[in-house]
Amino acid sequence: MAALPTFYLDDLNPAQREAVEQLDGPVLMLAGAGTGKTKALMARIAHLVTLRRVRPDEILAVTFTNKAARQMKERLEKTPFNVKNPIKWMGTFHSICVKLLRRHAELIGETSEKTSIHPYTELVVDDNDSEGPYDKGPVPTPNFVQSTPPTSSGLHLRSNFTILDTDDQVRLLKQLIQAANIDDKRWPARVLAGMIDNWKNRAWKPENVPTAEAGAFDGKGIALYRQYQRRLLELNAVDFGDLLLHVVTIFQQHDDVLKQYQRWFKFILVDEYQDTNVAQYLWLRLLAGGHKNICCVGDDDQSIYGWRGAEVGNILRFEKDFPGAVVVRLEQNYRSTPHILGAASGVIAGNEDRLGKTLWTDRDEGEKVRLIGHWDGEEEARWIGEEIEAMQRGTRGQKPMSLNDMAILVRASHQMRSFEDRFLTIGLPYRVVGGPRFYERMEIRDAMAYFRVVTSPDDDLAFERIVNTPKRGVGDKALQTIQICARENGLSLLEATRYLVSSGDLKGKAKSELAKLIAGFDRWADAAHDGKTSHIELAEVVLEESGYTEMWQKDKTPEAPGRLENLKELVKALEQFENLQGFLEHVALIMDNSSEEAEEKVTIMTLHAAKGLEFPAVFLPGWEDGLFPSQRSMDETGLKGLEEERRLAYVGITRAEELCTISFAANRRVYGQWQSALPSRFIDELPEEHVEVLTPPGLYGGGYGAASPDMGGRGMGAQMEAKAARADAYNSPGWRRMQARSQTRTISQPRESKNLVIDAEAVSVFRQGDRIFHQKFGYGTVMGIEGDKLDIEFDKAGSKKVIARFVVAADR
Ligand code: ATP
Ligand code: MG
Repeated sequence: MAALPTFYLDDLNPAQREAVEQLDGPVLMLAGAGTGKTKALMARIAHLVTLRRVRPDEILAVTFTNKAARQMKERLEKTPFNVKNPIKWMGTFHSICVKLLRRHAELIGETSEKTSIHPYTELVVDDNDSEGPYDKGPVPTPNFVQSTPPTSSGLHLRSNFTILDTDDQVRLLKQLIQAANIDDKRWPARVLAGMIDNWKNRAWKPENVPTAEAGAFDGKGIALYRQYQRRLLELNAVDFGDLLLHVVTIFQQHDDVLKQYQRWFKFILVDEYQDTNVAQYLWLRLLAGGHKNICCVGDDDQSIYGWRGAEVGNILRFEKDFPGAVVVRLEQNYRSTPHILGAASGVIAGNEDRLGKTLWTDRDEGEKVRLIGHWDGEEEARWIGEEIEAMQRGTRGQKPMSLNDMAILVRASHQMRSFEDRFLTIGLPYRVVGGPRFYERMEIRDAMAYFRVVTSPDDDLAFERIVNTPKRGVGDKALQTIQICARENGLSLLEATRYLVSSGDLKGKAKSELAKLIAGFDRWADAAHDGKTSHIELAEVVLEESGYTEMWQKDKTPEAPGRLENLKELVKALEQFENLQGFLEHVALIMDNSSEEAEEKVTIMTLHAAKGLEFPAVFLPGWEDGLFPSQRSMDETGLKGLEEERRLAYVGITRAEELCTISFAANRRVYGQWQSALPSRFIDELPEEHVEVLTPPGLYGGGYGAASPDMGGRGMGAQMEAKAARADAYNSPGWRRMQARSQTRTISQPRESKNLVIDAEAVSVFRQGDRIFHQKFGYGTVMGIEGDKLDIEFDKAGSKKVIARFVVAADR
């Protein structure tokens, strides 16, 4: 037998090789950052295919982001083992679940029929390029003109379902809350949305939510959840959480379907396993239940999605659920220099709740982790900009570096703005990953709502969004008439409108304009299926003919030109897709809008999004108490929140290969207000021998000590001066630790002071249920969060909306 091209094994260490060659049965690879877990996982895929144990399309590989999946696919496709068919089932939990759910959508519904024989149960093994046990089957084309109204019996999901985003979800919940005569100011839809997400993350359908939760949302949470699920069915829609929940439900209720997939996916691989939630874990356990060929890799120290329901406990459960699992531990880190590793290990050692592990590296010592304090956030951005330029030119004494090799990782996305501003000013190219999202902008969402109605005519939420955008004279009353007609006759809003236009119930401008709109949708839906019009042309036509583009052309506000640019950008984005539906699906799923352009750019992204990635040089700005760790985690009783923040710090430092720079600012402007800050407590935890403290060049003549005469002018009082001076003492860890602690207490015990504006991350720091204190209204409980405003139920003053900056967390 000719030697197989197993070159991918050559540069693995023995432990990695073991993980790769142990093909059968459950394998758990548990190891620290940069030890080559992902590399070994990829080699495993290569090995499975090279040994012809499976065809690539019989491998199920779950990655953390769609971007990671793309990168993996590209890398694998470059290697000679690649046979004709690619790894089709590689992606995030969500992207894989969409594919599964589209095939079996009909199995989700309210019918009591127990039949588990699905029309497409034939196992397809004909060609080498199949997508799974099921043929694609006849995907129903949206029949726009004669859309059949959903009936109340036998209601079920159809395969052209829409995926709702958070906004749609909240709008829908709000309608339900109002319909139930609940005061949605006191009981905001956003809070309910969060609750339902949590339940779905735990794989609880309405009937499974435990009685302990019965009091949720004023005792009405579970009932609203049930109504919401029903409404989604009526709309032929699912939310993000449903993608998983529905597939798990199908697997649980239809053993034959499950068995087919168990047989189809001969090997299952999961990266970043530490961040799976219960629903995802169940999904994996069901799929791996037959052959148990499942390999999970993860690092408990990098679990950073606890707030989203991820459970590190899944790691421990794995060995129980899959007895006899081979556990592989890797200890050699290949990514980072000893100083970087030393600093990261020093920080993470502060966590009590960890499995604990050793990490070592044989790389050259390299530079120490650099630590620098700045006067304020703008100064920090300026300094980092200069550093980046110097590194790019090679004037820092090293070889010139590509901008692609540098990243700025922030704790909160509002930190990005100062970097964006600065880099725009100096013309430094950058890309923001997972930041202010393109697809969340108003004009983009409007345009996509049009596309959604074209592809799914009964997408009522989308229709509602654009029925009067641009203005068509459809007032509240007309809309209500349409809604009532739809409800009473079981029609979609669009069909109801069609009916009302022809019956003469609508009058005047609304009638003629809506008649035009309906005729438009008919034409566009035809064009979508005529096989002659490309979806790109179609998109342009829709935006033109609907009057949407014109609306912005006529708009005289300063934002209008930018919005038109964005619309162009949107049409450009369509080029990468085969059709509108594929595109809409992609948008619903992607959370990173980074495109792979050739031009070199510095990356700006959140720490959360940086998981699994690596960069030669990493900047970690904003290490200040209240920002990182977040105020919320510091105020929490118990260490859970703080430990998660510490893991985030560990993730941040371990992204760096050669150079890691941590910085903090003594003053930061948040929502137009100056706030003073103390260096992060995590800075104290960096072992001294791995850190070099840099002196800021300083506008103010070297460091903070030299208090600026300008201080008062910026509205910063004596307290600020004192803090600036304190910050100067950061070389004395003990003193500072003491100060930091006392500062925390001050913050959580409100007192008379104007400077109690501490929240650098107002929007996300508070959560529903938090206790707070307000200077004027006293103590209260957070009921909901809307941007920088909080809905508070005050103990004495009743329910009020207040600006987050003006409240502080309270202990009681
Ligand atoms: P993280 O926990 O951050 O996701 P990881 O354990 O997945 O890290 P990888 O990203 O797979 O680590 O590997 C880190 C770096 O080390 C990569 O650049 C990889 O190519 C390199 N590497 C991994 N194993 C080896 C090895 N045996 N020899 C040389 N380089 C290696
Ligand atoms: Mg990895």
